[in-house]
Amino acid sequence: MPKILIVGGGYAGFYTAKKLEKWLGRNEAQVTMVDPLPYLTYQPFLPEVAAGSIEPRHAVVSHRRHLKRTRVINARVTYVNHAEKTATITPELGEPWQETYDIVVMTAGAVSRTFPIPGVADNAIGLKNIEEAIAVRDRIIKNFELAANLPEGSEEKKRLLTFVVVGGGFAGIEAFAEMRSLASSLVRQFPTISFEETHFHLIEAMGRIMPEVSLETSKWVIKSLDQRGATIHLDTQLSSAVDGRIELSTGESFEADTIVWTAGVMANPMIRNTDLPIEERGRLRANAALQIVNDEGPVADAWTAGDVAAVPDLTGAGVGGFCVPNAQHAVRQAKLLAKNITASLRGEDPKEYFHKSLGAVAGLGLYNGVYQWRKIAIKGFVAWIMHRGYHGLAIPMWERKIRVFGNWIMNFLLRRDTVQLSTRIAPRAAFEEFASRPKA
Ligand SMILES: Cc1cc2nc3c(=O)[nH]c(=O)nc-3n(C[C@H](O)[C@H](O)[C@H](O)COP(=O)(O)OP(=O)(O)OC[C@H]3O[C@@H](n4cnc5c(N)ncnc54)[C@H](O)[C@@H]3O)c2cc1C
Repeated sequence: MPKILIVGGGYAGFYTAKKLEKWLGRNEAQVTMVDPLPYLTYQPFLPEVAAGSIEPRHAVVSHRRHLKRTRVINARVTYVNHAEKTATITPELGEPWQETYDIVVMTAGAVSRTFPIPGVADNAIGLKNIEEAIAVRDRIIKNFELAANLPEGSEEKKRLLTFVVVGGGFAGIEAFAEMRSLASSLVRQFPTISFEETHFHLIEAMGRIMPEVSLETSKWVIKSLDQRGATIHLDTQLSSAVDGRIELSTGESFEADTIVWTAGVMANPMIRNTDLPIEERGRLRANAALQIVNDEGPVADAWTAGDVAAVPDLTGAGVGGFCVPNAQHAVRQAKLLAKNITASLRGEDPKEYFHKSLGAVAGLGLYNGVYQWRKIAIKGFVAWIMHRGYHGLAIPMWERKIRVFGNWIMNFLLRRDTVQLSTRIAPRAAFEEFASRPKA
């Protein structure tokens, strides 16, 4: 049986495996998927996790529960030698080993892209994985708890209640709006904190936010956030964040305890540890049939999809001619990829990827959202319902969809849960404090 190795079990990798299970006969191929994480992260829900609107576990999808015929390995792929058709698998515990394969599928996604701005690496946090979203949520609530005991107007209180998001793309604006929404609802629970004492700053280097929507719609979003007590700094760069002291290119500076970095992503640098061709922006070179290509044409038995790949956008709408890195493309590419691999195993020709954007929909905190498709824009409550409807159904697997909708219904009836469990980081502290020890 040919052995298929999938590197990365995110949106693209998980769906490729799931669909290969569907299209391939039992004895047609053996599929192995490697990912250090035991779950797929539904990243569009990270802003809502950070806002406490979705329970963290409900925004991820277990690999082992839903991939019945795929061999799942929890480890990191640290090298791919495609000339030899081997991959080095490095587990968290135990020795690395070489895995041989016949076909490789590269779906290792993207990571946060940062710039060497002083203080960012040490003080900021990204919003690409579930742990980061949980940490942002806990930090907002914890900061309220700490600030509640401090005198009005104190510098420390101001710092604790100042939140910064860097990057005004879709993910950044969603995160910013959701964080603001959580803070606004927390104010009601803290009599010693007024709304005016909470400060939210979004820093965007360009002269506009959300390039996926029209300029007019983006202005509406800015106005809506402004009305909710959030400040958007356009044409502004973060110059320094050392020890939480924010310095902007405009000369403005202030202290902030929470800095969320959402200023773009880049293809997972792990692909540099392969002998596969990489284009100038650091993604795997691919053709529209999702085959990895070099100057001579397709590299035999090497496929890719999702954020790690530079897949030509045949609709002509893509930035620089390539599909933009989003879940809309990742899931559709993965489904076609599984079909193409199945076709190639059966001696048939692969098909080319062609997908016209369904538009962009964003949640902007409770009861507010925005949707744009070509010149059509829907704003406010209706767009928020569309956002929840679309993503609630888009998260893979029915058991997850039901959990997420259940979450939203419970929160509507009982309001969002604002308990933070940051003490989980030191779970033994209470036991250790009172534990009796043998005498010296
Ligand atoms: C906050 C946020 C909001 C978003 N909102 C939207 C939205 O509203 N709509 C939309 O269409 N898109 C949205 N996106 C983008 C979308 O989530 C991504 O485009 C999509 O997840 C890409 O899928 P992928 O499979 O390529 O990568 P990922 O889903 O990132 O999966 C990559 C996988 O590879 C694994 N991996 C990494 N390194 C290795 C290694 N060395 N070995 C093995 N495995 C490895 C990772 O653990 C991960 O599981 C959002 C993204 C973010 C961050």
